[in-house]
Amino acid sequence: MSKQSKRREALIYHAKPTPGKIQVVPTKKYATQRDLSLAYSPGVAEPCLEIAKDVNNVYKYTAKGNLVAVISNGTAVLGLGNIGPEASKPVMEGKGLLFKIFSDIDVFDIEVNTENVEEFIQTVKMIAPTFGGINLEDIKAPEAFEIERRLKAELDIPVMHDDQHGTAIISAAALLNALEIADKKIDEVQIVISGAGAAAISCTRLYQAFGAKREHIVMTDSKGVIRQTRTDLTAEKAEFATHRDLETLADAMHNADVFIGLSTSNILSPDMLLSMTENPIVFALANPDPEIDYQLALDTRKDVIMATGRSDHPNQVNNVLGFPYIFRGALDVRATKINEAMKMAAVTALANLAKQNVPEQVNIAYGETHLTFGREYIIPKPFDPRLIAEVPPAVAKAAMESGVAKEAIYDWDKYRDSLLE
Ligand code: NAP
Ligand code: MG
Repeated sequence: MSKQSKRREALIYHAKPTPGKIQVVPTKKYATQRDLSLAYSPGVAEPCLEIAKDVNNVYKYTAKGNLVAVISNGTAVLGLGNIGPEASKPVMEGKGLLFKIFSDIDVFDIEVNTENVEEFIQTVKMIAPTFGGINLEDIKAPEAFEIERRLKAELDIPVMHDDQHGTAIISAAALLNALEIADKKIDEVQIVISGAGAAAISCTRLYQAFGAKREHIVMTDSKGVIRQTRTDLTAEKAEFATHRDLETLADAMHNADVFIGLSTSNILSPDMLLSMTENPIVFALANPDPEIDYQLALDTRKDVIMATGRSDHPNQVNNVLGFPYIFRGALDVRATKINEAMKMAAVTALANLAKQNVPEQVNIAYGETHLTFGREYIIPKPFDPRLIAEVPPAVAKAAMESGVAKEAIYDWDKYRDSLLE
């Protein structure tokens, strides 16, 4: 399909028959006058009074517990940059669609007209009573770090900036499995992270939680290696500054075991790839074009274990493997946070799932005949019906064990069955 016809197809998809991608659908009967007098006045006063007496009843009588805000100010939309709140709306609606189809969570997409950190925080805080959870989306770094940190501290519902943690969770699962295939240990490998933005910082922190050693990590940004001698570093970048005498990405890549690209297209050269150790792990995640072209990487070295952000190659690091299920698990035990333990539980569940036998319907959905754990299959596929049964219970259990769950699940088999309905 030509670029022009792809563009047309995307525009028609969004415009017809109804503009946009989501709508609101009542969940109660509304056929008779009696129904309406229950749905609205006078009947509606009864749940209002119950909630006024005990605010926790809001979960019993309203949709709050299954409603997530996907909220953005449009400052870092996909790879498109700062295109403003209205222009970000198709993305936020799209995220709403994904939440709904993969984990039956309802979404209000909210686009906020401010680039001011404090205004944004206050806006989210003020509308938080409506929601069971907050998914921050496409907000530029470094503001995104502060916004998330404050909202997590000041709200008692789960808050997650998906561009940071979604990517971290999926890529960590892929990394654990790639290391297993390469027969390398996470606490021994040399890791180069290209990029020091929202995604890169959060990924690196999560890899450390799984054992990656800070002294084995070199991070680069648009100015080269992040060294301790640099004077232009934000607090987040300074956290990963190396004392090693390296300047360029090429310097850093020499004898690296792992390359994680969360930066920009075509900056990893074949020579750099050749300078890595055997069975090099290359996650070139820049979208839409990776740090090194998939085919070029494979033509350069047969032993590379490769992932990208693209659906047209194996091993797509796709956030949709994470956020629907992480929020599902968090909402189902009314977690007050999405904490490290919950993120790590999601990583482990995803990594383990990729090692199980693949159901035939997944092979069919992807036009494959024999997906099996290996170089070309290190993470589950988005249309894997087992995700909903595996990831939310792991997240919910971790929330309970780490003390952030306000509700408990006792019968896990029953919970799993309910997820599959
Ligand atoms: P971001 O916050 O804007 O960060 C981009 C980072 O890349 C910045 O630190 C920037 O350096 C750095 N950079 C730019 N040019 C570079 C170069 N030539 N060499 C090294 N670093 C360079 O963006 P983000 O949200 O973290 O996303 C980064 C990239 O990852 C995007 O392409 C995005 O599409 C992709 N991504 C993919 C997935 C996925 O596959 N699932 C998920 C998230 C993000 P400065 O700090 O010096 O400006
Ligand atoms: Mg995003």
